[in-house]
Amino acid sequence: MKQIGYAVIFLMFVIIFIPLVLVKGCSQSSTQPKTKKAEETQLTIKVYITEEDKVVEMNFNEYLKGVVAAEMPASFHIEALKAQAVAARTYVYHRLINNEKNGIDVPEHKGADICTNPAHCKAWISKKKALEKWGLLSSGKYWDKINKAVDETTDMIITYEHEPIDAVFHSTSSGRTENSEEVWANTIPYLRSVISEGEEASPKFTSKLEITLTEFKEKLSSVRPEIKFEGNPGDFIEKFEKTEGGSIKTIRIGGCDFKGTEIRKIFELNSANFTITIDNDKVVFNVKGNGHGVGMSQYGANYLAQQGKYYEEILKHYYKDVEIVKMSEELNAKIKN
Ligand SMILES: [Zn+2]
Repeated sequence: MKQIGYAVIFLMFVIIFIPLVLVKGCSQSSTQPKTKKAEETQLTIKVYITEEDKVVEMNFNEYLKGVVAAEMPASFHIEALKAQAVAARTYVYHRLINNEKNGIDVPEHKGADICTNPAHCKAWISKKKALEKWGLLSSGKYWDKINKAVDETTDMIITYEHEPIDAVFHSTSSGRTENSEEVWANTIPYLRSVISEGEEASPKFTSKLEITLTEFKEKLSSVRPEIKFEGNPGDFIEKFEKTEGGSIKTIRIGGCDFKGTEIRKIFELNSANFTITIDNDKVVFNVKGNGHGVGMSQYGANYLAQQGKYYEEILKHYYKDVEIVKMSEELNAKIKN
């Protein structure tokens, strides 16, 4: 059974994934790469640059450098940047394989493999724009770090039961990450709630939103017309339940049940880890963390790196029971089995 599984995964990579998704540059076809590292450095990926409405084919590692530069502060520790590079590489592989396997066509990509809209795929920034963003004093140093983070982890991916994982990540947790099913629909065995220290370093570890009671009522009524605000405003919130990570799982307001993630969306809160205080005409949300809270926390990863942890240890802290492997060696092992 296991052997059949390996065969299927292997075939998926070789027959479907590699030829369709990561096409080697034509100019390289006459010279076979000597090492696996060289092999990945020659792979290319088609990227739909959302802001410019154009598809660009680029080297896979160069694409990843743009993702790391856009997704994580370049001032972070090199081991955190490496963890980010491997998570981003794995995320892309997982996404492309699944799209291919399930025959999912993504019209938003206009024929490309991936896009640069952070709400849809992963954020990406060109080297030119990254250097501009960092300014003269830091740009050289920062780009060197990004290069090192991606090049020194070339070909490394995170696997669970020999398949690339859905390596989701977020900016800042509340001090504990979330179980996947408490944010999205599915229970994913490697996306479990874990302690995440050092989040206080994030500028968005805590945030506050103050609105009027009228706005609070209007926004909730617009999604639940049946909601009833009667009596003392202090009693509008009837009960709530928390997730293992400490976020609001469900909350009943004015006789209607909301998921914490839904309240986050309605009021554009930084996370679903919040408290609500209603005081006369004022409603105050106090929020902890920034992002969905599932998988690796970037600020938590940086803290672990500062404590001397290597990128493999950081990834294994945030993704449960996973392996950090060279994709090419994983495939070779499958052939031999
Ligand atoms: Zn996309």
